[in-house]
Amino acid sequence: MPTQTLGAMQGQSMRITHVIDHAAREASGREIVTHWADGSETRTDWAGIRRDALKMAQALEALGIKPGERVASLAMNHSRHLVSWYGVAGMGGVLHTVNPRLFEDQLEYIVNHAEDRVLLYDAAFQPIVDKMKDRWTSVDHYICFDSGDHSPSFEEWIGEQDGHYDWYQGDERDPCMICYTSGTTGNPKGVQYEHRSTMMHAVAGLQPSAFNFSSGSVMLPVVPMFHAASWGLPYAGGMAGVKFVFSAVNDPAVLHDLMIREGVTDSAGVPTVWLAHFQYCDREGLDLPPLKAATIGGSACPRFMIERLMKNGTRVQHAWGMTETSPIGTVGGPTWDWDQLTFEEKVDKTAMQGRPIFGVELRIVDLEDMTTELARDGKTSGALQIRGPWIIRRYFKGETDATNSEGWFDTGDVGIIHPDGTLQLTDRTKDVIKSGGEWISSVELENAAVGHAEVAEAACVGMYHSKWDERPVLFVVRNEGSKVTADDIMDHLKPLIAKWWLPDAIEFVDDIPHTATGKISKKDLRERFSDYKLEG
Ligand code: ADP
Repeated sequence: MPTQTLGAMQGQSMRITHVIDHAAREASGREIVTHWADGSETRTDWAGIRRDALKMAQALEALGIKPGERVASLAMNHSRHLVSWYGVAGMGGVLHTVNPRLFEDQLEYIVNHAEDRVLLYDAAFQPIVDKMKDRWTSVDHYICFDSGDHSPSFEEWIGEQDGHYDWYQGDERDPCMICYTSGTTGNPKGVQYEHRSTMMHAVAGLQPSAFNFSSGSVMLPVVPMFHAASWGLPYAGGMAGVKFVFSAVNDPAVLHDLMIREGVTDSAGVPTVWLAHFQYCDREGLDLPPLKAATIGGSACPRFMIERLMKNGTRVQHAWGMTETSPIGTVGGPTWDWDQLTFEEKVDKTAMQGRPIFGVELRIVDLEDMTTELARDGKTSGALQIRGPWIIRRYFKGETDATNSEGWFDTGDVGIIHPDGTLQLTDRTKDVIKSGGEWISSVELENAAVGHAEVAEAACVGMYHSKWDERPVLFVVRNEGSKVTADDIMDHLKPLIAKWWLPDAIEFVDDIPHTATGKISKKDLRERFSDYKLEG
């Protein structure tokens, strides 16, 4: 008898066409609802998404698109965008979800760098297309997702096909999607996801300690499909056969109404989305929608938000990740000791960034040498590194690996790991302030400052200091009409942080610069204040 070296299982390759086949077979009638930019609403289901994805794959082949080539989308969340997630991958192509909020130079750079051949776009972004068309050198075909005056429209274009198509069969390590980071330093960088990495990431996302999806879930993702792969939801949702409710507009009134009308149980978005939702409900005298779970990430979820959602009976899944990590790295869910915790303790824990989902490993290392591993003691902070099957190895067209020789990727974040595995982010590597050989967390200072009722926004940066190397300076945007003084804010900070962390100066500004994805841009803030001199 010959020795059997491989196991004896079937081992189908992990290509994401399996997800849409499964969803169409097992959740065929589960609805996919879209609220479009013009206010109209349409309904399809998983079987319909697969039917259109097959036609789209054919239509792309008819245009001469080859496996491995990039097809771009410039679009909000809707069912036709979902079709593209499966249709492009189904013919072996690579979907490049372009963030329409990027600045023009970045839009030019990423489309040309990815060498996108086709661009699918929402009519709402026609002005961007008109402006950029001459600068995008590789795009041969423009197809509008909306019908109307636009020709060809997506429906016309795929309508020419009969849908008799066999999915392209390739290797599970082939690319299926590319997302660019928003480029807080230098040009944006492309992260190319594989079929296998995407599948594994989506499977991991289904866990009870992550998204906790089932076929009964009704998911309204507010996180855009153009940002960090919409946290993998379009694929995880297909695996579980959830009902999706999409909105092509991010108006809280529309989102609220959809959540109530469609029986939404789960949602996902960055904290600002919830802020807008709270404000809307307060203005209109409405209760928050009765969601079972809200996944919040992309930036730190403030305590008051967690408290309010938890009091509403909504489980808050505070997640951390980045484009380079597909993006889910950690998710907060009830830990084993949850039932023994007080409400306050639950809020404290949820304000941290959650625990790694199975598949990824996290560690913190010394900020100076970037290799010595530090204790997971809930006290020591260090540079956060990650590795796993859906973590980047190399940027698109990069010449060297983005990881060290042991596969660790440096996230650029700084954090503490607690003994139960909970990650607590404290800063970004570039932003921690080194004062007299000790580290000060700019984020903790900011969090303390925004806790003042008259502070609308705060950003803290380290400024050169002749004696201490760097000292913190806090930039504050006051609430409208507020006359709060630097002394008032200092008094507010004193009981909250160590004395030597108190900022050397508090400066009031009209606004704080943000990146295209809405995060505070300390790079721009530092540039704006490059002539700033601290006394002493
Ligand atoms: P980009 O890196 O292009 O700005 P990403 O969405 O990939 O866009 O951003 C990832 C970064 O966002 C992380 O490295 C981290 O600094 C921050 N971030 C993500 N989630 C959280 C969170 N839950 N709490 C605090 N910061 C977060």
